[in-house]
Amino acid sequence: SIILGIESSCDDTSAAVLKGNKILSNIAANQEIHNEYGGVVPELASRAHQQNIIPVVAKAVKEANIHKKDISAIGFTRGPGLLGSLLVGTSFAKSLAMSLEVPLIEVNHLQAHILAHFIDDANPEPPNFPFLCLTVSGGHTMIVLVKDYFDMEIIGKTIDDAAGEAFDKIGKIFGLDYPAGPIIDQLAKNGVENSFKFNKPRIENFNYSFSGIKTSVLYFIQKEVRKNPAFIKENLNDLCASVQQTLVEILMDKLEKAALELNINEIAIAGGVSANSGLREAMQKNAERLGWNIYIPKFEYTTDNAAMIAMVAKLKYDRGEFADLSISASARYDIEESFKKDVTIID
Ligand code: ATP
Ligand code: FE
Repeated sequence: SIILGIESSCDDTSAAVLKGNKILSNIAANQEIHNEYGGVVPELASRAHQQNIIPVVAKAVKEANIHKKDISAIGFTRGPGLLGSLLVGTSFAKSLAMSLEVPLIEVNHLQAHILAHFIDDANPEPPNFPFLCLTVSGGHTMIVLVKDYFDMEIIGKTIDDAAGEAFDKIGKIFGLDYPAGPIIDQLAKNGVENSFKFNKPRIENFNYSFSGIKTSVLYFIQKEVRKNPAFIKENLNDLCASVQQTLVEILMDKLEKAALELNINEIAIAGGVSANSGLREAMQKNAERLGWNIYIPKFEYTTDNAAMIAMVAKLKYDRGEFADLSISASARYDIEESFKKDVTIID
């Protein structure tokens, strides 16, 4: 099969072509426009998607060296995400499926972050079921028990901010651009961990909380800047290294606890924050220390991309799970809810 995947849930317009499990093209247009606002502006995001979607899809088809008529089905992100952004991808996918007379396949964005592991070149080997997937992105932070491609259970999640949001908001306190996650990662490489100590949250079960650390960083910075206005500038690398280390420790503590209690040693990470080098190193260390088999997706399949959407669409294509053309975008599309189908099965 040849699947065209379309992703437009947040601020990246992306299209990819998947043949079998192999990615032939994976194109993304990133929206620089949001950087100066310190976050994604929904209204601007949907307009930019509107401008980008045709050239991005055309480029994906061209780079894959296929013809539009070779496409077997079209997969698109139904949600979760910004409604205005989702609507652009959804409408475009529906129209294209209609005009090419091929099936339409709806995809849950979070399932796609997880199932990106099954793209042919995402890992040397795909994870074995059941595995635990620490899913960490700009909008979500959760530990998912993945029993099968379409059988997943959230065993823990954040009760407030997502990990990516914590990186971005703390970076903003340091005066960094949006998204600050990758910038903190870069600066942390030249800094010393443990230069500054931030309290970790005490929270039950496998759940997370990240709003407390954000507030304690804010108060700490305000206090230090009053004494020395150049404090951030003089300590930026060490601040980034210390914050990153704390965030990674919070993430890994619960993941380790879950692995132990559920007695699972197939451990994966997914989502934008899984690009973080501190998190990747911590996974490596745990692999050695605890005998985990770890799965860290290739960098380009971590942050939002259409390759992962095409991957889920392919799995659904093989099962004959097609969407009706009357389907609508769903901003709060829950990962577990996505298994209760409102799709028509066509055989
Ligand atoms: P969701 O998937 O929950 O809907 P999203 O799609 O906006 O949210 P992603 O694109 O998966 O999120 O991830 C973006 C987030 O990942 C941002 O918060 C960004 O700062 C963070 N991020 C990206 N690279 C890194 C990195 N190297 N280190 C830390 N954080 C990073
Ligand atoms: Fe995402």
